[in-house]
Amino acid sequence: MRKVLLLNSSYEPLHICSWQRALLLLVKGKAEAVEKQNRQIANGRWPMPIVIRLLYYVKIPHKELPLTRRNVLHRDGYLCQYCGKKGELSIDHILPRSRGGKDTWDNVITACVRCNLYKGNKTPKEAGMELRSKPCRPADFIQFELSKHRQASAREVARWRKYLYFFD
Ligand SMILES: [Zn+2]
Repeated sequence: MRKVLLLNSSYEPLHICSWQRALLLLVKGKAEAVEKQNRQIANGRWPMPIVIRLLYYVKIPHKELPLTRRNVLHRDGYLCQYCGKKGELSIDHILPRSRGGKDTWDNVITACVRCNLYKGNKTPKEAGMELRSKPCRPADFIQFELSKHRQASAREVARWRKYLYFFD
């Protein structure tokens, strides 16, 4: 699905949204298209947006990337963090939940079902397993979201880039 980069009125990147949502913001007069394609959509009345900017400023509290299964898998490159293979993937709690392990970025990792079963209710150390990387919270929300769409929309991303590095 085609994605659109949404900027605050200050040009600060806010989010990546679907083109349908972007179109809605344009139609309602809440945003302007700052990068667009020549192709027209909505019966030829609107250009397909690539980057849109809100016409009003939204104050966003510190954005936190939600800890979801999909985000953990994406962070870990869809590879088991014990054996490095793809296979059937699951989410493993490094310190098992039954032993007080929390749902936090540094306690959950991608593990194949086989490694997960083998590890069972142990810590990696107790199970004699080694983690391939130290899990942590992805530092940059927007960059993380962007990396999910890198291949699908390389041309759009190239036109997002100047806004993404606006504050560099
Ligand atoms: Zn594995």
